Amino acid sequence: MVERFEVALNTPAGRLTTAIDVPTGFIPITAIVPVTRRLGEEAAQLEVQHAIEAGLTISCQMGCAACCRMLVPLSVPEAFALREYVGQLPTDRRTHLLNRLSDTKDSLKREDLWDRLNDVAEASRQVPDEDLDPINRSYYALRIPCPYLENEMCSIYEARPAACRELLVTSPAELCQDLVQNPVTPLPVSMRISSILGLVWGTLTSSPPRLIPLPIALEWAERHEEESRRTWPGSSLLDQVLDNMWRFLSQAFTKK
Ligand code: SF4
Repeated sequence: MVERFEVALNTPAGRLTTAIDVPTGFIPITAIVPVTRRLGEEAAQLEVQHAIEAGLTISCQMGCAACCRMLVPLSVPEAFALREYVGQLPTDRRTHLLNRLSDTKDSLKREDLWDRLNDVAEASRQVPDEDLDPINRSYYALRIPCPYLENEMCSIYEARPAACRELLVTSPAELCQDLVQNPVTPLPVSMRISSILGLVWGTLTSSPPRLIPLPIALEWAERHEEESRRTWPGSSLLDQVLDNMWRFLSQAFTKK
């Protein structure tokens, strides 16, 4: 049984209205991830339209994966959702991905980054930006392709993290080859979905908002598997998601 909710959100790029079906019973946090990402993508689409109407061009295209060398942060619900997604893949596909993740782990260990990423994911408090910046820079300096990147295409496209969906630029694509040296112009993001899901999880579990770096997300989710089995009423999860979205949007209007 599902219950339908009509959702209306005022974003800086226009009004988003959509219908959302949420199970009436108790659901795990992963069940709310797809719909939360969909709302984020619909808000992003309004930003794209807004940019095009202003005469700008979105440079991001299929086959351009320059940004897939950055460290991608996931919220806890997304890490659990990614584990579920990989777990239901056909065996040969799953084995292939796990081998790629293992290669990435070896590279990161050689560079002394693996433990630092785990420290971020297991921190008992929110890791401040000044601690994250050097880790992000060290990781990007290696230009390690994302373990889920194959032939410059995302191999988990429908399950990719929210952070991957949110980075769109209007500056020339060649500038993205070096995101440290070059100034790129990203489209505004009115609601950061990974932050919203992280805040929802933090409220539900009385824990600090936690960032899980993508290369370690499956192992982290495996270690914390028991937490992923908890359930809450679907409508209450949606309420919390929308509550955090409204907060983000009101901040986005304040910044304008
Ligand atoms: S998950 Fe997909 S889109 Fe995100 S960094 Fe990896 S390959 Fe790129």
